[in-house]
Amino acid sequence: MRICVVSYHASPLNPVGAGKSGGMSIVLRNLYCRMTEFAEVDIFVRGNDQTVSLSPGVNVIYVDQNDTTGFAETIIDRHAERQYDLLHTHYWSSGIVGLLVNKTLGIPWLHTLHTVEILKTIKQDRTRVDIEEEIVRACDLVVSPTHQEATALRALYSGVNVISVPHGVNAEMFVPSLDGHKNILYVGRIDPIKGLDVLVDALRILKRDTNLIVVGGPSKGQKNYDAIKTYGRDLSIDFAGPVQHEALVRYYRETAMVVVPSYYESFGLVGLEAMASARPVVGFSHTGLRETVGDDAGILVKMGARNLAQAIKTLLENHELRQKLGNWGRHKALVYDWSNIARRYQVIYEKVVQK
Ligand code: UDP
Repeated sequence: MRICVVSYHASPLNPVGAGKSGGMSIVLRNLYCRMTEFAEVDIFVRGNDQTVSLSPGVNVIYVDQNDTTGFAETIIDRHAERQYDLLHTHYWSSGIVGLLVNKTLGIPWLHTLHTVEILKTIKQDRTRVDIEEEIVRACDLVVSPTHQEATALRALYSGVNVISVPHGVNAEMFVPSLDGHKNILYVGRIDPIKGLDVLVDALRILKRDTNLIVVGGPSKGQKNYDAIKTYGRDLSIDFAGPVQHEALVRYYRETAMVVVPSYYESFGLVGLEAMASARPVVGFSHTGLRETVGDDAGILVKMGARNLAQAIKTLLENHELRQKLGNWGRHKALVYDWSNIARRYQVIYEKVVQK
């Protein structure tokens, strides 16, 4: 099978954790590298014309086009030679390319939104909301990482085909270790939607000399990054900046817990990485963490700094509970190993192609 993947937003080969590169790059890298047994994959991204191999049979094709029309035309040209069986677009900007490609090629089209603008709990972009609706109505199948999101999409857009497949984790890279640390860890792009301000408020409520390590770089501008640094300057917070994905293992090992304070989180890869590392997760119960962390791999609370502070306090004071939640998290994370998730995609892709 030949799969045409579109990632107009960012290349999966870019360093992750700042700017435009976040969880989606990790998803693309991990998922498609595990499909080589049954598929050849071309991932189209923007950049100076060149092709880079991600792994045997998986190419990242850089296209020197900064508008969706030119980008779509390049894909259509490439199809004449490659004869793709399937198109899978990731994120709304790739969905715009999908709309154009679909008009000409008409091959089965899957779309993953990664974040759904209309479901964001802070500040929505109305144009993007409309475009996302057009994309989900035009494609053959929407792939959503949680049941919660899939249900919401079906309710919003009746008649649209939505399937839910979770993202995964590399459970061979993120491994358990003994918990003997007092730090709290945050990992992620520094973007207002990630709720770092709520975590700072929670630490202030805790009034204890807990050390927070913040891994990740500016995503919505340096100003916003500097503002959160200033906001937390009276607390013990160590801003480590973006850390290479493979090097994150040490940060997960050297922490007592991982806090994901996002206002909105479609899935939350960081939660799964913490679970695979046998560290409890603290976050909000309305987010995608509900389906991975649940109530036995960490503490999820209702949105608010006080609730977050209470959950952190509970875990800081109870080493046994941390271990119990961490161990159960590891157990659950194994199910999400990328090799299992890739097999689920194989079944879906084969079904869609055979239709
Ligand atoms: N990440 C990383 N280095 C950093 C910060 C983040 O490798 O400095 C990775 C993190 O391990 C996770 C991803 O970026 O795999 C973030 O994914 P998540 O779903 O938590 O958030 P998103 O970026 O998709 O909003």
